[in-house]
Amino acid sequence: MKEVQPPKRPIMFYYAIALAVIMLFNLVIMPGLVNQSVKEVPYSDFLDMLDRQQLSQVYIDSAQNQISFTDKALPEPQLYVTGIVDDPGLVERLNKVGVTYTSPIIKQASPLLTLLLSWVIPIGIFMLLGNFLTKQMTKKMGGGMNAMQLGKSNARIYIQSETGIKFADVAGQDEAKEALQEIVEFLHNPGKYAEIGATLPKGALLVGPPGTGKTLLAKAVAGEAEVPFFSISGSEFVEMFVGMGASKVRDLFKQAEEKAPCIVFIDEIDTIGKKRESTGLGGGNDEREQTLNQLLAEMDGFDGKKGVVLLAATNRPEILDPALLRPGRFDRRIPVELPDLQGRIDILKVHIKKVKTDPGINLSTVARAAAGTSGADLANIINEAALRAVREGRKRVNQVDLEESIEVVLAGYQKKSQVLSDKEKLIVAYHETGHALVAAKQKESAPVHKITIIPRTSGALGYTMQVEEDEHFLTSKEEIENKIATYTAGRVAEDVVFGAITTGAANDIERATQLARAMITRLGMTDEFGMVSFEQEVNPYLGGQTVSTGSAETSSRVDQMTIDLVKKQYDRAETIIRDNLPKLHELAKFLYEKETISGEEFMSILNSPPALLTQETEAQEGEEQSAPAQV
Ligand code: ADP
Ligand code: MG
Ligand code: ZN
Repeated sequence: MKEVQPPKRPIMFYYAIALAVIMLFNLVIMPGLVNQSVKEVPYSDFLDMLDRQQLSQVYIDSAQNQISFTDKALPEPQLYVTGIVDDPGLVERLNKVGVTYTSPIIKQASPLLTLLLSWVIPIGIFMLLGNFLTKQMTKKMGGGMNAMQLGKSNARIYIQSETGIKFADVAGQDEAKEALQEIVEFLHNPGKYAEIGATLPKGALLVGPPGTGKTLLAKAVAGEAEVPFFSISGSEFVEMFVGMGASKVRDLFKQAEEKAPCIVFIDEIDTIGKKRESTGLGGGNDEREQTLNQLLAEMDGFDGKKGVVLLAATNRPEILDPALLRPGRFDRRIPVELPDLQGRIDILKVHIKKVKTDPGINLSTVARAAAGTSGADLANIINEAALRAVREGRKRVNQVDLEESIEVVLAGYQKKSQVLSDKEKLIVAYHETGHALVAAKQKESAPVHKITIIPRTSGALGYTMQVEEDEHFLTSKEEIENKIATYTAGRVAEDVVFGAITTGAANDIERATQLARAMITRLGMTDEFGMVSFEQEVNPYLGGQTVSTGSAETSSRVDQMTIDLVKKQYDRAETIIRDNLPKLHELAKFLYEKETISGEEFMSILNSPPALLTQETEAQEGEEQSAPAQV
């Protein structure tokens, strides 16, 4: 409690008012109240009444220069007061009538008690009241925050015992967990790293679609490391106290340094981390920009060796200010993607533990039907199923509940997350397999690393990842041609298998065209033009925009040559696909089932004896394959 520091201005204001009220009460109203029933009389009257023996209880208050007394003759005793006159015979007179008299020390309460009653207690009450009000207020605004944080930043401290979330609670996301494991180790033992002179990246940014477990992962890091977890969401910075965003950032970092090693987690960082506009007219969002500037300054200022690790999460990395992503800031990016089939099964397993189920529940069926859903969706599916069971008056969740609730959740989420129909999923599977197959069947081409048909936030419905065996900086003409062929292969597969083409190849087309153009206009890779440049790169940082420097004639010639070049590679890819059609089917079906397959899985199927064809035809095909690759 001793750290309670209510927000300065408003509370001081209340106290001032309270003080004024108390003073007014004490100085003006109190005496008035007392005086109401007191009658002031001349000294002579006092003596008269004394002589008539009407008096009782005479108080001679020389300090206040007054004598007070009551008239016992009246039905209701009346309190009188009169001034003191230098009257040496008074005591004698009083003794004569036999009235009790005294100097009123007893009536005048002790100064300590007076002080206590009129100042300390009322102020105490007001303070308690103010405190209570502030708490109510903050509770309404932020909800359940730690009393220790009052008036400082509203970052809520979660200590490990409170979050209690471990990596085991996060299903799937193995790559993200692996990347975060290093941070956990660093937090366990910052000294070990400092000894060698290694600094861990100050910040890691969790990037991925909503509901994939970014917040959960951040909490799990704190849980695993058993360190304090400061968490604040970007929108809280901006909305809670307008004009205080920047100071809150300062407080947050100050507190974090005191509590190091610890984790500072900024959720939804895009709300404060949006690109700053260099606007004149209309102006940017000053408040937000100040907050962001403060954040950047603090990130540069704090010493990473102390063991403060910054985590942030966003589902819109593309709108973040580039300054945030610079080395020394959030330079480590951890993708948290939508789960694949196995991931979905694992997530369902984690959440199904929370509900009572019938025996014989098949989660794999549920996961299969819920293609394209996020972890949050899956948690929701289980919850919906439990609600459905309750509605139907059952005590346990059964398979029907689960399958029904998929629809409930998916229908509700269809717009938000991309959920492919089975037919679409099959097309995407063939498309990606096409890419991978052509890539693998060419000699000078990077090995296939991973194929997936899980929709990405980028809008891609799937992708084939090729990873070079070793880094190289020169690319041969043959390699570029192979790349173009690989780009076209997705569309080729669609066309060959379904006899229909889709919009899925838009990005491939763009990339193939770019490469082909570059070969002609910048890389001197055509016989017709030779080593002549018709295009210049303007800004290599902004997606390699180019300007044409050739004449109108060369431009149209370049266009025609680009068309021819891509067409040639398309035809070559088609040959490869048609020659390997059985493998394409086999691989595409496998991918369709599993959604993500590794390079090894891919190659082992590709190299295994075909399911239907004989060994001989396979060997023949293999020979044919090497030929086009050498063109
Ligand atoms: P994000 O921050 O990425 O939007 P959250 O971390 O808030 O997503 O996830 C929301 C909820 O979804 C979690 O509380 C959890 O119940 C569930 N969830 C998401 N991903 C997973 C996962 N990989 N494993 C287990 N539960 C998950
Ligand atoms: Mg979140
Ligand atoms: Zn493609």
